[in-house]
Amino acid sequence: MLPAADATTASPSPLRPRALAAALAGERLTVPTSARSRNNVFAGLALDRASERRDEQEFIETRRSAATTRFTVVRPDGKALVDAARRGLRLLAEAERAAWLGAAPVWYLGEADEVAHFAVAHPSDEEEPLASALAGQWMDLRAAGLALPAFDAGLFAYARGLLHWQSRARFCGACGSPTIFVAAGHKARCTDPACGIVHFPRTDPAIIVIVGWRDSCLLGRQASWPPNRYSTLAGFVEPGETLEDAVRREVFEESGVVVAECDYHSSQPWPFPASLMLGFTAEAQGPELRVGPELEAARWFTADEIVRSLADGSLVLPPPLSVSFRLIEHWLRETAGLELSELRRPVSF
Ligand SMILES: [Zn+2]
Repeated sequence: MLPAADATTASPSPLRPRALAAALAGERLTVPTSARSRNNVFAGLALDRASERRDEQEFIETRRSAATTRFTVVRPDGKALVDAARRGLRLLAEAERAAWLGAAPVWYLGEADEVAHFAVAHPSDEEEPLASALAGQWMDLRAAGLALPAFDAGLFAYARGLLHWQSRARFCGACGSPTIFVAAGHKARCTDPACGIVHFPRTDPAIIVIVGWRDSCLLGRQASWPPNRYSTLAGFVEPGETLEDAVRREVFEESGVVVAECDYHSSQPWPFPASLMLGFTAEAQGPELRVGPELEAARWFTADEIVRSLADGSLVLPPPLSVSFRLIEHWLRETAGLELSELRRPVSF
């Protein structure tokens, strides 16, 4: 369930004059992709990762023990400690960390506004006194993406992604020996001297794409989704594949639609558990559909159909948490001068 803050009521008159639509579309074309990415949830983390200093143990220790340093706490189930009002991360000061999580290793994340940020893994998902003693609550990352400020949501995503990778990198994938974490937690080195491989945090690239054909866009749904929910098509990039080839392959596999051209839109960290979503827009060669086994349905929607279907509840689109929302927003703006945020109905998933 998403927080109530996500629910908005459909506007009764979302259609805009054509001149305004054209102006909006023109303005959109000038927006750099970096600005588009910053607009995505989990992508607003203004943090200096100081990655070149992770091997400087004295620097890391000095920053860890500074009075201003703060620690992001994440449980094995991926939930983080937030404040009682659920409006921000409940970051620990050094004294709090030492008192409650003194045995847990800490991992350097970076610097923001002269504050050093570290991640620390809570040892269990069990109910325990830490949250109540520190006036905090545990929150999952999806809820945090919509409820917390951009910096906090991004810091949570970063800490969660790093800690999840560490939980899967305790043994060498080449020889099976235990690893030790080095570079302030950002590398895992095999402890067998005969092997000694260094493993890096894993990120799985996945494309997500809105495909247009004439005045329609292509959306699909999986059988496991809530009723009437449709979204843009998506899939993982395979070894030896360009992003553009992944777009063409995934769209064809899932819908039978042949992509003519595609362009990069924006990216979004998506640590569920380890993805990077790479958003694309694309144009189809034609409208022929042949829905593949991954989808229950795929179909073309005109802007008018989206407006009407959202209004009568026969269509539910993804929440703003996902870059899918941004891609549909982009397409509606460029095609019809519509603002998706004014069309949305309350969502409950
Ligand atoms: Zn090894």
